[in-house]
Amino acid sequence: MKYHIWTAGCQMNVADSQRVGSELEKLGYRHTDNYRSADVIVLNTCVVRQSAEDKAAGFLWSLKPIKQARPDKVIALMGCMVGVRGGGKLAQVFPHVDVFMPPSEPGPLIDYLLARDSEQAALHYRHRLQDEELALVLPRHQQNRLVSAHVPVIYGCNHVCTYCVIPSRRGRERSRPVGEIAAEVRSLVAQGVREVTLLGQIVDRYGYDIPDGPRLPDLLRAIHDIDGLYRIRFLTSHPNYMSDELLDTVAELPKVCEHIEVPNQAGDDEVLRRMKREYTMADYTALIERIRARIPDVAIATDIIVGFPGETEAQFQRTLDTLAQLKLDVCHVAMYSPRPGTVSAKMMPDDVPPEEKKRRLDAVNQLQEQIVAEINARLLGRTVEILVEEKHRGRWKGRTRTNKLVFFEDESGTDWRGKLVNVEITWTGPWSMRGVLPGQQTPSLRLEPAVIAGIGAPGD
Ligand code: SAH
Repeated sequence: MKYHIWTAGCQMNVADSQRVGSELEKLGYRHTDNYRSADVIVLNTCVVRQSAEDKAAGFLWSLKPIKQARPDKVIALMGCMVGVRGGGKLAQVFPHVDVFMPPSEPGPLIDYLLARDSEQAALHYRHRLQDEELALVLPRHQQNRLVSAHVPVIYGCNHVCTYCVIPSRRGRERSRPVGEIAAEVRSLVAQGVREVTLLGQIVDRYGYDIPDGPRLPDLLRAIHDIDGLYRIRFLTSHPNYMSDELLDTVAELPKVCEHIEVPNQAGDDEVLRRMKREYTMADYTALIERIRARIPDVAIATDIIVGFPGETEAQFQRTLDTLAQLKLDVCHVAMYSPRPGTVSAKMMPDDVPPEEKKRRLDAVNQLQEQIVAEINARLLGRTVEILVEEKHRGRWKGRTRTNKLVFFEDESGTDWRGKLVNVEITWTGPWSMRGVLPGQQTPSLRLEPAVIAGIGAPGD
């Protein structure tokens, strides 16, 4: 029995799909890359923009003949297309779907399969007993192969950015307990994971929904002590919750990477006000300065929406000016897409024409490409520490602490996967870099000797 999971959208969906895979494996299913040969097909969907929703719907329609030919196959629809309220009208539109699963909830699919098959129910029961030791069993094809894993720490979102459909699909904020997250990270490390990225729509609001609850810095400290874990990242941040304590914790804890993802969305105060982002450009610029002052060598990523309703040429120009001035490491840019039920879709006409949105998108990408090329070029000739993730087309692929991609070649036959390696950068481009292994590996410069002793020196 085989399963296939199709995943669209954000890292949270990647983590959710992994959880579904893990639960399916407990029932005896095995992963396949080929959805046509799968007995269970899961579509984990994204609806943040119309294009994402169209893609999911297109794939879903293409499954209809497969389901008609083989009614015993199970088709499960998951994620933001379904939303916290479950299937509803979707069941009428897509009658070939057997199960609807809200974001982050494998439960309905597992219950459906258990109800069908008593042997699976027995297997599931045995696994439940073992689960106390291992909080998350990675799907087999990822065990001792997956180096970098995503771990949701807070579900949902309480903000109401006027363009954003996510809060209505993922519900109110719910933080996971520190102990549960730490147990999950420990189990991932035992299965070969070396880096975790803690996830939340606004990850720095971790714990806000719990009276006197922990905060993100507390969580970072709690998982920092886990032996065998080399690196910790977190995303996405909102400018209004990036406390000095959080930034200082990032700077202080050796395993927490100098990598911050904090969306700006627009470079103009009036647009920001209509987006209900609740900060001004002066606030955002001051935050970037504060981050840079407190975290040396930090890399900062941002998100930008172009063509928000009413965005004038002058307002868009301020976004370009901001990017040119701040010189951030990454800019994810998207054309505004009106989403059902959002404030902007209801109240603000989508009045920037599609070709103009595209022109603005291209302008941002072009500028950002130059900026990143310049930033990366500064690394030429420098030695950087990378965590190796996999071999890709004959070259090893890793990331710097600042989340930049580095490729290197090595014919020695050494398995570098999951190891920290220092490489000297020999070529840089905007999207990746190339490096070479120095003759001798030297230990990480950033990790304290005690920490290195705890996690094993690179190359061991
Ligand atoms: N809470 C997350 C949101 C994830 S959505 C965050 O703050 O990053 C990821 C990005 O998609 C957002 O940052 C935004 O730039 C973009 N986005 C959200 N809604 C959009 C819409 N209606 N049209 C275009 N882009 C959108």
